[in-house]
Amino acid sequence: MKILNPATHALIAEVTEDGAGSVRAKYARARAAQPAWAALPIKKRLDAIRAFRARITDMQATLARTLTLEVGKPIRQSRNELNGFLGRIDFFLAEAPRTLREQKVHADAKQNLEERVSHEPLGVIANISAWNYPYFVGGNVFIPALIAGNAVLYKPSEYATLTGLHIAAMLYESGVPIDVFIPVVGGPAIGAALLRLAVDGVFFTGSYATGAKVGAAAGRRMAKVQLELGGKDPIYVCDDVDVKAAASGIADGAFYNTGQSCCSVERVYVHQKIYDAFVDAFVAEVKGFKVGDPLDESSYIGPVTRRPQLDVLRRQVADAKRKGATLLAGGGSLKGKGNWFEPTVFANVDHRMSLMKDESFGPVIGIQKVTDDAQAIALMNDTEYGLTAGVYTRDEKRARRILGQVHSGSVYWNCCDRVSPRLPWTGVGHSGIGVTLGTQGIETFTRPKAWHVALESGLTPMHCRYH
Ligand code: NAD
Repeated sequence: MKILNPATHALIAEVTEDGAGSVRAKYARARAAQPAWAALPIKKRLDAIRAFRARITDMQATLARTLTLEVGKPIRQSRNELNGFLGRIDFFLAEAPRTLREQKVHADAKQNLEERVSHEPLGVIANISAWNYPYFVGGNVFIPALIAGNAVLYKPSEYATLTGLHIAAMLYESGVPIDVFIPVVGGPAIGAALLRLAVDGVFFTGSYATGAKVGAAAGRRMAKVQLELGGKDPIYVCDDVDVKAAASGIADGAFYNTGQSCCSVERVYVHQKIYDAFVDAFVAEVKGFKVGDPLDESSYIGPVTRRPQLDVLRRQVADAKRKGATLLAGGGSLKGKGNWFEPTVFANVDHRMSLMKDESFGPVIGIQKVTDDAQAIALMNDTEYGLTAGVYTRDEKRARRILGQVHSGSVYWNCCDRVSPRLPWTGVGHSGIGVTLGTQGIETFTRPKAWHVALESGLTPMHCRYH
């Protein structure tokens, strides 16, 4: 498989792709190795993850460079991702022992009876991942899954393969057995081959279109399935804000990572009283973004990672223009080799346009005027997705009223494009099923086992009934 640099189309590396046979063999190795891994005291597994954290710190410069070369992420943002990843590992190291501990949920001294819940690992899981934040979206799964005692078949995106292989090498150096975490290399066909195996859980991050196929395949096998999918995340700017500060924060939320975050701001609604001022301030911010070589420390916008996405962006731009939107910045590909697209801003957009309905996943945004909060809420909810949504206002009551009516997994007040390891990450509708992060995102890699414990033998049959 050829790995190309999205900034230049230069060949970076060639790696050997898996085939259906090698995927089956990897599954068999993982299945055989998992019980011994799960039988270790949790402290040993935590030690391995702690050592992995130290490896990331040591290797940071090399890892950041590889990430930038293969996905085109501006180098400072690659380092930010690695630093953020350390914070997530810290959260898992601190929380997992508490969350995974066996709990006594009931004790009846008279009957000498206890009821307890333990957390058993699922077994062998498939972790099929996306490329846009490979450390974050991969690590949200494989770190807690490994700590909980699972074996992981990790399929990095074909656009982040080198990063996936680095992750595997560092885990092995840290004490994770080579049969407990196994990278599976390849594209859609290899992902599909993984789903034909009798894995105990499927944890997928990617687009809705692929997620729907993955969910159907996992459902047939009765494997636990979790789908973290796309978004069309809205922000509403009320009439009481500091316009310049709001424009600056929201432009960053829309264009950071070249607009390729699942929680990127994808639609902006602005109260009519401040619409013109906001649009001017927003466009000024966007025109200030430095587009260029992602290895250059000063670049803020890099290439689009996947070449086919350029066609999606071009189609959205053409559709918006045809339907009467006003183009205020950018609007097309940049000349030269590589997947370059100008940071693009449209005003006077509406929901007839694909730009306001379909995930763009690139440096393109539309800003729509609204007359009041009710219209803003209706428009924010006019989507099949529901990953994040935000509001900018000085008034907390107003923020709570608006955000309380918005259908999404996360809500933001005066911020956007943000993920915290301490909070559950989940979606509504086409944004997916299940939870990563938070303590719920640790438990999800286990199945509860219910313990009915008669501390002395000899409970009469009556006590054994289900009450
Ligand atoms: P994608 O759906 O194209 O691919 C995701 C993964 O699925 C890749 O590893 C791919 O090889 C694999 N795959 C493709 N077809 C498959 C099949 N038929 N069976 C099994 N596996 C298959 O998505 P992408 O381009 O890698 O990622 C971008 C998408 O991911 C965006 O929609 C983005 O919003 C979403 N995303 C969501 C989150 C979240 O937390 N909700 C995080 C990051 C990205």
